[in-house]
Amino acid sequence: MLKPDEAIGRILAQISPMPTERTPLLAAQGRALQVAQNARFELPPWDNSAMDGYAVRASELPGTLPVSGIMAAGVSPDAELAVGTCMKIMTGAPVPRGADTVVMRENVEEGTSVATFSEAPILGRHIRRAGEDISADSELLPAGSRLGPGELAILAAQGIAEIPVCRRPRVAILSTGDELVPLGATPSDAQIISSNSTTLAAQIREAGGIAVDAGIVPDTLQATVRALRSLADYDVLLTSGGVSVGDFDYVKEAYETIGVSMDFWKVAVKPGKPLAFGTRAIPGSDRTQLVFGLPGNPASSLVSFEIFVRPALRKLLGFASATRPRIMVTLSEDFEKATGRTNFLRAKLTPSETGPVATLLRKQGSGMLRSMVSVDCLVQFDADTTHFAAGSKVPALPLRGAW
Ligand code: AMP
Ligand code: MG
Repeated sequence: MLKPDEAIGRILAQISPMPTERTPLLAAQGRALQVAQNARFELPPWDNSAMDGYAVRASELPGTLPVSGIMAAGVSPDAELAVGTCMKIMTGAPVPRGADTVVMRENVEEGTSVATFSEAPILGRHIRRAGEDISADSELLPAGSRLGPGELAILAAQGIAEIPVCRRPRVAILSTGDELVPLGATPSDAQIISSNSTTLAAQIREAGGIAVDAGIVPDTLQATVRALRSLADYDVLLTSGGVSVGDFDYVKEAYETIGVSMDFWKVAVKPGKPLAFGTRAIPGSDRTQLVFGLPGNPASSLVSFEIFVRPALRKLLGFASATRPRIMVTLSEDFEKATGRTNFLRAKLTPSETGPVATLLRKQGSGMLRSMVSVDCLVQFDADTTHFAAGSKVPALPLRGAW
């Protein structure tokens, strides 16, 4: 059976980023820059003061000097400091020509029109040099950068008000199951509410996609095929449930009926062994839809999305790195498992001096929702190992954080 990393590799190999669109800067928050951006001008644009204080010629100090003027933030950088004088200066104000040093106000004895400096200052102190932050023509951000507040700030400071990002993929969620009713409906005594529709929509949005709930289909081939056909416009199609070997699991057959080219059906992973991935050439267009058949069990669905679908969405969104980086965590307790499948267990993380400690959450059954609450990471247990000792370090996939 396919290993999870092989499955991720096969998925990513089928994907190229979505077409780009230009967007106002702030609307690009959390998305990936598509074209590297270079500086348009240097910053700071002129030498300016890092402190409220006095602009001086260092060689003229110590001593008492007349105050010949005041430089406030926003005044022209054209001023000149007359020999034998000092000028009052504010943080961010341009340093007048001739001055080579700023003395902090706290170290100056201020008279009515004079200032007394008791010490010789260090030449060049408290001056921010033109271009010391950003030099002209330097690269501000490479393509593929994730645009957080700091990245948006550097672009804003350079007057870059619009940038190219990938169009957000539109992702349809189709839930399958005779037992399911939508949120808002009252289940009969044979029914449950489809929680996966909500989990998956939230995960899609969190990954940067546009989630559309395509509703619930009953467990018949005909209804499944009809629904899948109606969803050809979406960039990605997720089905939930019906992908296993039960008598009423029609998703695989429905995919084949509508011409999905299946890449794989199963991955050696727990939870989430039945996991389908394929591509569908949309007739009459040059578009290819990505199709994921996720297992119906709530925890399997959540975990499968994180491991397999999220990287696909991130690659569609043009991120330089599609997968979240693994972290190493220390196990707080022993763990035993069978060989054959990589296990991903939901865990909480606690910081410690030797790095994060993972405490496995209770109620790990693939059908259970309880351990999906307050989960910080998925701890990854190697397929071929059976015993993991408390205190040992293992890789984990963080579920929170910026990337
Ligand atoms: P399936 O993969 O269709 O065999 O479903 C496996 C289990 O997950 C069954 O107990 C289903 O009732 C449950 N299940 C399937 N779809 C959903 C859903 N959308 N929301 C919550 N539970 C579901
Ligand atoms: Mg089902």
